[in-house]
Amino acid sequence: MADQGNTKLDGSITSYCIEHAATQKSKCAACERVIPHKSLRVAEVYRRTKKVKKDKARHTWFHFKCWKVPDYLTRVPIEQFRGYLALNDKDKSRVQRVIKSGAGSSWGQLMEKQKPVKTEEELEADKEVQAKKDQKKKEDDESMDMDMTEVLTGTQTKSSKKKAKKEIEDKKAEKAGKAEKVTTEALKPKTDKKAKVTKKAVKEVVAKVKEIKLPKEDLLELENFAKEFSAFK
Ligand SMILES: [Zn+2]
Repeated sequence: MADQGNTKLDGSITSYCIEHAATQKSKCAACERVIPHKSLRVAEVYRRTKKVKKDKARHTWFHFKCWKVPDYLTRVPIEQFRGYLALNDKDKSRVQRVIKSGAGSSWGQLMEKQKPVKTEEELEADKEVQAKKDQKKKEDDESMDMDMTEVLTGTQTKSSKKKAKKEIEDKKAEKAGKAEKVTTEALKPKTDKKAKVTKKAVKEVVAKVKEIKLPKEDLLELENFAKEFSAFK
């Protein structure tokens, strides 16, 4: 069935067509911007009388998203929308949706409405997620400060493993009375008196490192170190 168009009392006929722009020459009558090549566009086709041939008719083009559904198309079979049947399924369903939304609706408006507006609960949830992130970061920063723990785990990097070995060797050297300096910051008591490390402090570090789940040989080495160190005390 050919489209008949909306015949007015004055005998003029307005019909509509939809297509993918064959060129980039048309401008949208709503937003006045160029309609890009291949993008979906709609024309309002106006003929002063039935006698005017369609290709001589006045075409007023719109971006599909800018075009507002005319009342006429809500009242007639979709086939009256010239070009509709040639569209792909995706475009067809978009056209159906916007027409169903009623006269005066546009695809642009529909998309605007569809933008997710966050509820207060969702905003609150976002805040909690952010707070957790902040807390995690804080904990990470704190664990960076726990130098001894990181050094003794040996799980971080090769360099920290090396560092851990060096720390232990330093300790042994100290035990032998060759070194005076305690280099392991974490084992320093809060009073900062060198070498005044209590058995309790050592136990605590060992317990902490056990929690971190060291490889067995590292753990043994550490325990031996703790024993030696305690004995030295
Ligand atoms: Zn436009």
